[in-house]
Order: sequence, then C-alpha cells, then structure tokens
Amino acid sequence: NSFTTAEIISYAKDQDVSFVRLAFCDIFGQLKNISVSLSTLERAFSEGVRFDASQIRGFLNVEDSDLLLFPDPTTMTFLPWRPSQGRVIRFYCDIKHPDGRPFVGDTRHMLKKTERELFEKDYEFYLGSELEFYLFKTDENGDPTYEPMDRASYFDIAPLDKGENIRREICLTLEEMGLKFESSHHEKGPGQNEVVFRHSLLLDATDNIISFKAMVKALAARNGLYASFLPKPLFDECSSGFHMNISVSKDGKDMNYYRENVIAGILKHIREITVFLNPIVNSYERLGGYQAPSNLTYGTGNRNLLIRIPMGKGEDSNRIELRSPDNASNPYIAATLLARAAIEGIEQNLKYDDSLAGETLPQSLIEAVEAAESSDFINSVLPEHLVKCFLKAKRQDWIAATQSNNPRVAAREMEFY
Ligand code: GLU
Ligand code: MG
Ligand code: MG
Repeated sequence: NSFTTAEIISYAKDQDVSFVRLAFCDIFGQLKNISVSLSTLERAFSEGVRFDASQIRGFLNVEDSDLLLFPDPTTMTFLPWRPSQGRVIRFYCDIKHPDGRPFVGDTRHMLKKTERELFEKDYEFYLGSELEFYLFKTDENGDPTYEPMDRASYFDIAPLDKGENIRREICLTLEEMGLKFESSHHEKGPGQNEVVFRHSLLLDATDNIISFKAMVKALAARNGLYASFLPKPLFDECSSGFHMNISVSKDGKDMNYYRENVIAGILKHIREITVFLNPIVNSYERLGGYQAPSNLTYGTGNRNLLIRIPMGKGEDSNRIELRSPDNASNPYIAATLLARAAIEGIEQNLKYDDSLAGETLPQSLIEAVEAAESSDFINSVLPEHLVKCFLKAKRQDWIAATQSNNPRVAAREMEFY
C-alpha cells in the first residue's frame, strides 16, 4: 500500500489505536520491539525513535550505541490478539545511525536493498515458506515442558488431533493480519503442526514469517501452550524444518528455463551459507535425520533430497524446494543469500557439478562456521561487520555447548526458538 504517514495516523485514530509497536529483528532474526503512544508515531516517521543498541545481542561494537528506528509505513498491521479497545498496531522499522546512515546489522534493510537491485535487473524473486513447529504443554509456572499437546500424527483429524482449534485460530488471525496462507495440517510428530504460505515477493514473504512466528507464540501462550520452532526439540520424534520454495523469473522466462542454473548456484554455495540457514547447535541434530537432508542432492522424489523439484503442472511445479533451512535462521539473511546464489547460477550459466554428489552439508555448528569463514561468496554478499558479529557469536555458542556440557544451553535454545 502507499498511504501517506498523515493518512496512516488519521486512520489509526479512527480505529481506536492507543499503542504502536516499533519492531525489528536482531541479526539472529529474534524479534524486538518498543511500544510508543500514537502521538509519538508522527515524530517516529520524521525523526525516528532512539534506542540503545549496545543492549541487543549481536549488535556488538556499534561505535555509536544510539540507533534510530524509522517505521516502514507499508508494514502496518493490527495485532489481533491484543485488546480490541485501545488497539495495537505494529510496524517493521529501518534502523539508522543518528547521521542517517543505514545500520549494517539491519538485515531487513539488506534484503530490501537486494530485492531492489534484483528488480532493477528485471528479476522477480518469490519465496513460499513451509513452517513446522511443536505445541508443548506448559508447567505451573507457564514455562515450556517437553510434553507435546497431543499424540496425533501426519494429517490426523480430531479427536486425536487436538491442534485443530488452535490451528483454526492461527489461520483466522493470519487472515485478519492480511497474511496469505495456503494450508495447515498436523505434522508427523506428536503436537507437531505446519502452516504453508502462498509464495510472494522476497521481503513480503520474509516479513510474513517473522509475523507468523510471533503470532503463533502469542496465541499458544494464550491457550496455555508453548509453540517451539526449535529444529529438533524431541530426540525420538520428527524434526521441524523451514522449507524454502524459491522461484525466479526474468524477461518472461521462468523456473522451467532457469531451474538448472538456480539449483547449481545454490548447491555451489550451500556449505558456506549453512551456518546462516542452520545457525544453532540443535540444528545439527536435525540434519540427516528423518526427512531432513544431509547430502548435496537434488531430484523429484525422495524427501531426504536437499533440493526437491515438485512434480506436476502449472504454478505448483514452477519452483524448487530447498529442504535444509530451519526456523532458528534469520530469514532475512537466508533469503538474501539464496537469491544471490541463485542469481549467480543464472548469470554465470552454472550447471550441476557431479562431483558434489558425494558431499554433505556441514555436520556440526563449528564445521558450518569454518565453511563460512573461508568463503569469498559470503564476504562479497554480506557486510563484513555483520559476518564478523554473527560468526563470533556462533563460535561462542559452540564453545558453550561443548566445553561446559551445559544443560542451560539446550534450555536457552528452547526458550529462544
Ligand atoms: N519435518 C521434516 C524436516 O525436519 C520435513 C517433513 C516434510 O517433508 O514435511 O525437515
Ligand atoms: Mg512438513
Ligand atoms: Mg515441504
């Protein structure tokens, strides 16, 4: 939409809005926000709202720790689970230095810029996401347990599937927020659910993922449950993935034309970018397990393939499905890297390299960190400061998990994702 900021403010007044959430993600994709009054919104659009960036993990070493949030007027949405009087609206924000320079830790801005550059070259890039998550019971303190909310399995229906009502609430709320989902179902694991999004342009699709996760967590909590997007929460049960369906078109040519180039581009760089797609210790308990890939393979059939080419005709087959990413990733970084790898495949007319067939994804977080550290691709595509902060934090996570054998690491991952 293209409303002026004055129109937005008067609309919000009409709609009985009292609070405005100014939201952004840290470099790990964790959503943060500050709540301001409606009367502050006008000033936020013109002058920004200041916050102390030194308190945000991964925004390390910002020389000048004051940063400003500028709401992006195209992202306004109501938060339907908040009260219906004195309503709450939310904007995603651009993060800038006081002198107006964009902040390098603003990964949403990075994707926005990438999308703009691709448009200028006439590429249209789409992402359709499949998001799997578990619903767990909570204990008397409201903290998550590892006890799933039901014992149902793939595509089950009530009464086995107890997720029916909450999935319905999730999907209705998605519609209220204007997010286009395609379907939802009970997944294979107990308490495991999935929502599939219709594909849309990169930035929009990625904003939707962030909105979706926040909403599911809020609705679960309201129902006395805990929604976990952890890649492998239960040792003996299915993992949760974030399948990315990607398609690109240019000059009237679509994926049927570019498919091999896109696959070759992604496979060429997949090892180097894995730390950004699978960024936590727990991610590596998923990869290579049931229906989660490990080898650098592609094809039409088997669900252990890294890249699956959907069968069928028309729109539905006009894409490829990358199956390795998980929901601990920052989807703004993931989308940026995949778009860049795919475009490289197209512009250099890359073909599948058979010697990759025997290779695997990194087998641990530290292996993934090392693959990224020695990557020219990563350094040419992501800002140096972002890469440094991200990889440093990931090394620290690895050391904390291995040296101390510390159960708090697992607990913290459960709490964050
Ligand atoms: N749950 C599997 C994973 O961790 C994916 C299952 C499916 O194909 O939907 O990736
Ligand atoms: Mg699934
Ligand atoms: Mg899938």
